[in-house]
Amino acid sequence: MALDQLEKILKSADTIVFFGGAGVSTESGIPDFRGSGGLYGKKAGLRFSPEEILSLSFFVRYPEAFYDFYRSNMVFDQAKPNKAHLALAKWEAEGRLTAVVTQNIDGLHQQAGSRNVMELHGSVHRNYCMDCKKFFSLDTVMKSKGIPRCDLCNGIIKPDVVLYEESLRQDVLESAASFIEKADVLLIGGTSLSVYPAAGLINCNKGGKLVLINQSPTRYDQKADLVINGKIAEILGFLT
Ligand code: NAD
Ligand code: ZN
Repeated sequence: MALDQLEKILKSADTIVFFGGAGVSTESGIPDFRGSGGLYGKKAGLRFSPEEILSLSFFVRYPEAFYDFYRSNMVFDQAKPNKAHLALAKWEAEGRLTAVVTQNIDGLHQQAGSRNVMELHGSVHRNYCMDCKKFFSLDTVMKSKGIPRCDLCNGIIKPDVVLYEESLRQDVLESAASFIEKADVLLIGGTSLSVYPAAGLINCNKGGKLVLINQSPTRYDQKADLVINGKIAEILGFLT
């Protein structure tokens, strides 16, 4: 049975690296983009597509509309970590898991207790004034009306999330690649593996066993030692 196989693979590993995406947080009530209940399915009612709204040029041109969309579709400040986040944090504490690489911006891995988290797409919890670089909490962004502005210089506050048209932080990408290279097991879950360059990280795996847990098939299923199609929190919850 697939669960037994998964348990065996994980037990045999000294170093596990987890690489995940939006599907890791759907069981915490945060919708993904491309899954069946995802944000991209809502496109019809919008004048702009989510990709357009979440681009740097849209942010610069229509910051107020960006923040309208962002506050109601991208930030879920009441969400709590689920069994997948908790299992990964536990394995790190036990010294079996060396890193969590995530495309998520929700901060739920840290909330669950994970320490070595590489956030490829940034975090809603970090926000900076575009002019003087002062730091602001998520609370400031959520509580302000319209465009959140800096109390020091009145500059526009921008979330530290990677928008379309922006590049990923090279240092985070390199560090993620180096952990993945050294892993005995690369456990990938809750990602359609279709957003680049993040998805390209799978190619950094140098001979480690590859396990994919996703609700729907991905283009890398053929390459994996084990594929489980199912809900990741449920599955990792069984193992803890
Ligand atoms: P995606 O939306 O492209 O894909 C999510 C995948 O997870 C889908 O293939 C879906 O079938 C699968 N999935 C959904 N629920 C699952 C579950 N419970 N168990 C297992 N699999 C499940 O997401 P992506 O590939 O991560 O890329 C989208 C981008 O959107 C990310 O880069 C991220 O920055 C951003 N995003 C972040 C969040 C978040 O922070 N929670 C939420 C939505 C989107
Ligand atoms: Zn400022």
